[in-house]
Amino acid sequence: MPLNDYEIVIGLEVHAELKTDSKIFCGCTTEFGGEPNSHVCPVCLGLPGVLPVLNEKAMDYTITAGLALNCEISPYSKFDRKQYFYPDLPKAYQISQYNDFLLCKSGWIEVASGNGELKKVRINRVHLEEDAGKTVHSGTGILDSDYGQQDYNRCGVPLIEIVGEPDLRSAQEAKEYLEKLRTLLLYTGISDCKMEEGSLRCDANISLRPKGAKEFGILAEIKNLNSFKAVQSALEYEAERQAELYDKGEKMFKQTRAWDENKGVTVLMRSKEGASDYRYFPEPDLVPMVIDDERLQRLRNTIPELPDSRKRRYMEIWGLPEYDANLISGSRELADYFEAAVKEYGEAKAVSNWVMVELMRLLNQEKIEITAVKITPAALAKMLKLIDAGTISGKIAKTVFEEMFMTGKDPEAIVQEKGLVQISDSGELAAIAKKVIDANPQSAADYLGGKAQALGFLVGQMMKETKGRANPAMVNELLRKELEQRK
Ligand SMILES: [Zn+2]
Repeated sequence: MPLNDYEIVIGLEVHAELKTDSKIFCGCTTEFGGEPNSHVCPVCLGLPGVLPVLNEKAMDYTITAGLALNCEISPYSKFDRKQYFYPDLPKAYQISQYNDFLLCKSGWIEVASGNGELKKVRINRVHLEEDAGKTVHSGTGILDSDYGQQDYNRCGVPLIEIVGEPDLRSAQEAKEYLEKLRTLLLYTGISDCKMEEGSLRCDANISLRPKGAKEFGILAEIKNLNSFKAVQSALEYEAERQAELYDKGEKMFKQTRAWDENKGVTVLMRSKEGASDYRYFPEPDLVPMVIDDERLQRLRNTIPELPDSRKRRYMEIWGLPEYDANLISGSRELADYFEAAVKEYGEAKAVSNWVMVELMRLLNQEKIEITAVKITPAALAKMLKLIDAGTISGKIAKTVFEEMFMTGKDPEAIVQEKGLVQISDSGELAAIAKKVIDANPQSAADYLGGKAQALGFLVGQMMKETKGRANPAMVNELLRKELEQRK
């Protein structure tokens, strides 16, 4: 049957590295990159006789993530050893948290679903663990390599795992969910969420069932999804693949697959093990933690106003269209910038137009982050006031804005220096209108002969003559007046 007759069921497991300065159980730096095995010590290498000491900041960040994702926070938490044997883990176990005492549980976030409505996607849990090292494979990738080399710099970097419930129903929804999760983590400042550096990683569980069925189908876990596009493409591919197998009546089995970006296919890695294979047991070297109300309150206070709330405020109080509100609230830095400019200027839509069109265009063109932009919110507000006062036209303002962007100069100074003040003197403009008409007798004759569009050409000539400085509201009027006199 066609893919449309199946219900696609997706749940994401997302790992985010926390932005602490040092690792979770030792003092080594968490900085990305570096010579292989230069950010290591006996603790994160798992040498015998060493003891881990918990980085409290990592615990704070995990709880903060839980709060931002609407989770219940458990007053009691502990660490467990998760046993597995893989060369990227020198201790042969990972210090993680088993699900008998969940630190953060039963959360949810709202995600845009296909029909334009918001959908609540549940989060099962968020827990803290240590990252493993990195295997550098020979050859072109994991599937055709002869040997691997180990880099333990990443070993022991604090990591949160965010386990989502299987509430997602399409590849597009899964991408939206991941993007929303990323926005929230960035807002709280606990992770830099760079998929290209591996500080945000995603595995996807996907299964199919006939529409209307209650039972879940047999799932495949897809690994190696290292971009938003990969998440969407891999899930689209995998849904098609599974539908085809069901149609052929083939037997399914639980499995782990890898996304091959170059070939655009998922490839079988292994049949999947259950949680019991990991032989979890409590970590004897770390004491359990009690999280008191005071700590919770302190962490709650560090969470800024989150994007959904900002978006609502922009629409309901400031009257922004949803598109503007969505885009601006999607980045904390952009939203802060926007709000600071609105505070100075007073009117949100005008600020939003400049931020969304000219500012975004220049940021993209010059590959600059909003945090590094040279135009202060106050300077943007000042420029808008120059337009309102008639000192510059909206058209000239674009030139001024670009100069502000490149140099960080004050808009008024730019207008003076470059002689960009708008010409609003009717005597001066009338003289220019005469000159333009004299120089273009054919257009003048056309206009007087009934071709209204000939006026547009003369307006253009006047703008050219004044280098765009003529007050556009006055130009049409003056030209028309002047032409009528020549009838
Ligand atoms: Zn270390």
